[in-house]
Amino acid sequence: MKTQGNEMKTAILGAVGKVKAKGGHKPNKEKLQEVLAEGASIGAFCTGCGFHQGFSKQGAMDIAETFEIKPRELTKEKFFTMARCILCDDDFKEVKLEVL
Ligand SMILES: [Zn+2]
Repeated sequence: MKTQGNEMKTAILGAVGKVKAKGGHKPNKEKLQEVLAEGASIGAFCTGCGFHQGFSKQGAMDIAETFEIKPRELTKEKFFTMARCILCDDDFKEVKLEVL
């Protein structure tokens, strides 16, 4: 039964295209500026899988609250970095704020 469960899990994760987190990725400033240009409130980068993404204002506030970042520190000159994101893990992990 255990094997069957794992197969099911693999099938589900495979369906949403889970990315493998290798770590050691470096953020690309231009890509982070692109997500801002597309309307995101703040950019984010996952060092685990190398994915750049943008958060809405509400999304950014939720992340800030979870990781004890002061909302007034959320500006367009900054971006989130995270060790893991929802693409390569179950949730965002080790989120920090860095200057773009
Ligand atoms: Zn990731």
